[in-house]
Amino acid sequence: MQFDQLNLDPRILEPVKKSGFIKPTDIQQRAIPVVLSGADLMASAQTGTGKTAAFVLPALQRILRPSRKSGNGPRVLVLTPTRELAMQVNQNIRQFSRCSKVSTGSIIGGMAYGPQLRMLRGRLDLLVATPGRLLDHMEQGKVDFSRLEILVLDEADRMLDMGFIDAVKDIAAATPKDRQTLLFSATLEGRVLQVAKQLLKNPESIALAASNKRHKSIEQHMHHADSKAHKQKLLEHHLESGRLFKSLVFTATKRGAEQVAKVLRSKNLKSAALHGDMSQNKRRQTVENLRKGRIETLVATDVAARGLDIKDISHVINYDLPTVAEDYIHRIGRTGRASATGFAISLVGPADWKKLSQIEKLIGQKVKREIVDGLEPSSSEPRASSRAEQKPRPRRKFSKGAKSASTRKPGSWRKGQSGSKQSKSFRVKKAA
Ligand code: AMP
Repeated sequence: MQFDQLNLDPRILEPVKKSGFIKPTDIQQRAIPVVLSGADLMASAQTGTGKTAAFVLPALQRILRPSRKSGNGPRVLVLTPTRELAMQVNQNIRQFSRCSKVSTGSIIGGMAYGPQLRMLRGRLDLLVATPGRLLDHMEQGKVDFSRLEILVLDEADRMLDMGFIDAVKDIAAATPKDRQTLLFSATLEGRVLQVAKQLLKNPESIALAASNKRHKSIEQHMHHADSKAHKQKLLEHHLESGRLFKSLVFTATKRGAEQVAKVLRSKNLKSAALHGDMSQNKRRQTVENLRKGRIETLVATDVAARGLDIKDISHVINYDLPTVAEDYIHRIGRTGRASATGFAISLVGPADWKKLSQIEKLIGQKVKREIVDGLEPSSSEPRASSRAEQKPRPRRKFSKGAKSASTRKPGSWRKGQSGSKQSKSFRVKKAA
């Protein structure tokens, strides 16, 4: 199928073509006709599948028709779990609305209230917001939803994980009942399904086959590490190998992210930390530095890395494994985007084996074991039955605001150079 067959207005197709998109992705082929029909939709699609354009393009098409209601408030509201994702979506809206006269804005935590209030007083067609700050404005009576036609819940599973369930319901309750509601989520199970039942009316459902289980374009492998010091050496081995283009390293804590980034900088590796204690501007600047190549390695916590959209991340490295197995899928999805091959490397220390078992169960495959010459582990892999029973730490709840970051980038780092060869040999040479 081609974009021309989707019944989109030429004013929308023009910027799509300028973006270099040749064919609509699966989610776009399936979701765009549903959204254009006016039906509610719930879709399982995660970042990297082209889901943003799947709702932005038909939403823009709706905006091209004059509103039947008077007022200045937004006609489309997109709720996202994190600030970075909100900015990303807003950037996509700008990209695709170059030939249309629409006004768009974002309301996110960590930014000054003044400009947001001024924006809310003016005419707005599309608004992208994180739930906490939007609710703040709503409580002050500053948001006019009388014109609202479409409500999009983007990364709904994340919003619920981050404790935004009540905020999302309160916001939805403040919008017109005859709105169209679109829900995008990595999974359509459990709480997400319950929320969908409450907020959507006879929704069409689209499930992209096994999209959340396997990343076919990502080579996954792991190293057994004896200790933190061993992890650090393995990390440096990869970063110094010259095979990585841009990398995203995940740590369990903010302090861990700072420490790892500091050690890497001391070895003259261009790196920076990204975590929720940094100001919004500093986070934005750091992500921009990665995007522009001023830094090559971002050491981030999960919360900070959520929503990051940088297309040319060649490697995701799990310095610490995530506590929640689903997060592994989200993390590694930051590479291998837009049809590039990506590589995911996990450093599995003594405290990580149980988590690895849970991840392997979730993804339904064993992650390839690899040993780096000169950096062999001193012990063998613990048997599955003896892996320490670690209690998962409770996930942090947020009452307001959101924190995140994300990355990705497309294409053409030295494809085929590293991971594929490595994985076949199961053994990699230590960089000289
Ligand atoms: P998303 O899942 O919306 O975060 O998009 C993932 C990436 O794919 C973004 O960088 C988009 O610009 C890109 N993308 C979205 N749709 C297409 C398409 N039809 N063809 C090529 N790239 C696309």
